[in-house]
Amino acid sequence: MKPAPFAYKKARSLEEAVALLGETDARLLAGGQSLIATLNMRLSAPSLLIDINGITGLDRIAAKGNMVEIGALVRHAQAERSDMIGKLAPLSARALPHIGHPAIRNRGTLGGSIAFADPAAEMPACLIALYGEVEVTGPKGKRTINAEDFFKGLFETALGPQDVLTAIRIPAATKDTRVGFAELARRHGDYAIVGLAASARADGKGLADVRLSYFGVGSTPTRARKAEDALASGDVEAAVAALDLEPHDDVQATAAVKKHLAGVLLRRVAKQLMEPRA
Ligand SMILES: Cc1cc2nc3c(=O)[nH]c(=O)nc-3n(C[C@H](O)[C@H](O)[C@H](O)COP(=O)(O)OP(=O)(O)OC[C@H]3O[C@@H](n4cnc5c(N)ncnc54)[C@H](O)[C@@H]3O)c2cc1C
Repeated sequence: MKPAPFAYKKARSLEEAVALLGETDARLLAGGQSLIATLNMRLSAPSLLIDINGITGLDRIAAKGNMVEIGALVRHAQAERSDMIGKLAPLSARALPHIGHPAIRNRGTLGGSIAFADPAAEMPACLIALYGEVEVTGPKGKRTINAEDFFKGLFETALGPQDVLTAIRIPAATKDTRVGFAELARRHGDYAIVGLAASARADGKGLADVRLSYFGVGSTPTRARKAEDALASGDVEAAVAALDLEPHDDVQATAAVKKHLAGVLLRRVAKQLMEPRA
């Protein structure tokens, strides 16, 4: 199929993009890896596409204080190759190779992935696991939204109609940071049936501040809070038994299979969390 007709404008600045978003039924175009597919399938038919790829300064990865800031236009492949991400954001580094295929990672952006908010996507779950935040620019200027408050529902976020997501920020890993990541997909590169992004802080021989952020089990990334508490007390099987998730059947698997796989992933990720950082 072909998309419905649309106009195209290339924004040269954030201010221009925000102003253009004020026009009826306009949509931002970043890497196009999700948006163009929805247009081609006529799942959406905006009258104007605003290309933000020409806006300078949104493609940078930088350490800022104790945070790592990743600009909205940083491509998945660029982040995957970044030494800074490898060192200071090791959970994201583990998750990035699981996003689609190289061609998709070459164009797809971190900002697009967070803004699109696919419940089976890796980056939103990592952002929740890492106490991350989202920087947004709208008609009234810049504001910061905590990741926990950003994902509102299925493909629904706290972004307003004239907002541009400009960056994400995550606390830089320290020597005590522990991370774990695993997902189950039919083939490498497919969206996961179930996935788990996790972080914790080493505390003596145990773990503290455990965050288990599942994807593919609900309409948003979903924390398993009771399992987090059980894992912090050192009992992996108790954590599996406590898994407080309520997945629904979908095209990939039944709810019961997803719940079972969530436990399998938790055992794998718990081992990773307990390994000292290299
Ligand atoms: C075959 C295939 C397999 C894939 N597999 C995976 C996978 O396994 N895991 C995964 O996570 N993703 C997967 N993707 C999606 C891919 O990661 C996309 O790159 C990502 O979801 C969207 O990023 P984008 O830059 O391409 O955004 P676009 O497609 O350009 O935009 C997506 C949406 O976000 C909005 N948007 C984009 N940027 C901004 C911004 N800065 N501010 C506000 N709104 C914005 C757009 O208006 C649009 O509504 C796959 C895609 C394909 C085609």
